[in-house]
Amino acid sequence: HMPTAELQALDAAHHMHPFTTNDELSAKGARIITRAKGVYLTDSEGNEILDGMAGLWCVNIGYGRPEMAEVASRQMMELPFYNTFFMTSHVPAIALASELAKLAPEGLNHVFFAGSGSEANDTNLRMVRTYWAEKGQPQRSHVISRKNAYHGSSMGSGSLGGMTYMHEQGGLPIPGIHHINQPDWWAEGGDMTPEDFGLARAQELEAKILELGADNVAAFIAEPVQGAGGVIVAPDTYWPEIQRIVDKYGILLIADEVICGFGRTGNWFGSTTVGIRPHIMTIAKGLSSGYQPIGGSIVCDEVAEVINACEFNHGYTYSGHPVAAAVALENLRILQEENVLDHVRNVSGPALRAGLEKLADHPLVGGVNIKGLMASLPLTPHKATRAKFAGQTGTAGFMCRERCFANNLVMRHVGDRMIISPPLVITPEEIDVFMSRAKTALDETYAALKD
Ligand code: PLP
Repeated sequence: HMPTAELQALDAAHHMHPFTTNDELSAKGARIITRAKGVYLTDSEGNEILDGMAGLWCVNIGYGRPEMAEVASRQMMELPFYNTFFMTSHVPAIALASELAKLAPEGLNHVFFAGSGSEANDTNLRMVRTYWAEKGQPQRSHVISRKNAYHGSSMGSGSLGGMTYMHEQGGLPIPGIHHINQPDWWAEGGDMTPEDFGLARAQELEAKILELGADNVAAFIAEPVQGAGGVIVAPDTYWPEIQRIVDKYGILLIADEVICGFGRTGNWFGSTTVGIRPHIMTIAKGLSSGYQPIGGSIVCDEVAEVINACEFNHGYTYSGHPVAAAVALENLRILQEENVLDHVRNVSGPALRAGLEKLADHPLVGGVNIKGLMASLPLTPHKATRAKFAGQTGTAGFMCRERCFANNLVMRHVGDRMIISPPLVITPEEIDVFMSRAKTALDETYAALKD
């Protein structure tokens, strides 16, 4: 191996990183991750870092599983690539689509593969518009999403997302996409009860549908639990009201399960956890536990029937890639054979909740948002009023993330919220290590903010 400093210099000189400034990279140098096992990463200096983010919310079964490498190797020898265009198919894509149809909620029996979550959401956008056009309602093209949502980085998925700092670059959103407020009671609920607030935020969907004209709206897209927007668990009143509204106006519901899917919330899909009936689910990340890039859309019978009857002029070279599909199938086998969902419900989920609730006694922590094994801790200078920090939003969060990293813990920040999403297989003992490192980082952040 090259010395770390040399790798960092080459990285800053030639490698363009997502969501990172080159100044940051040149000043500090990226931490070079060289290998990983279970929930621990090892960097080029030999430090062992507890990964509280499962990579980017994806390594659900943990790192370094030899079964996954064996399946990939076998598939590469047998059939490394073939496409699924023009009347051809192959065993891994067929097997994975059939398995997903078994695991998905009733009525969702069809899978359109993609290489990532962004691509899958682009598929969804074109699919819902095509669906309505084929049904003789081409004007029904507007799609409603939520502010601060993240649905990917391509032109379509970045438009579905509601991150203004993304919209400011490259001319997003594309026409026909609208954003309503998110159900973030902690930050925006003011004096309302969470229940009243959840209801009010859901009713913004109805107001937006009426403003656009119900006959012009194709779909509403949302994550069951908003992840990259800050792990925002909606109040209990929110989702039943959303379901009532989409049913009333006959609008397609797209659940983006890229983070929530494959056990993250304790069920196969977050839609089950929050009790909704989507027409389409976006999947990626935990589908292969990140071992191979793969995504897709799981589509209900009604939409698939219309799309299958026309020629849907859409697809990716890597739709259903045989190696990625075989690896994803092995990932689903491991999740089932090792009862990982039970582990989330009965072991790792409750242990994470208990640990975070204890951390919430810390003077900087304003509360705990948690569903299964995704959670956030909003930081605040004043717990009782859920006050925001004076000055630039995200300064305290960034500081805390850096202190975590220095203490060999990956905890991400979204503004001033700390985000937690470890591998689902994390043990209570590893959660104790997480808590102890997080407490040190919070103490150090608190001391630094006081200076
Ligand atoms: N949807 C959600 C909810 C996500 O969190 C992400 C990525 O973080 C995406 C879509 C985009 O997925 P990808 O990065 O695989 O394109």
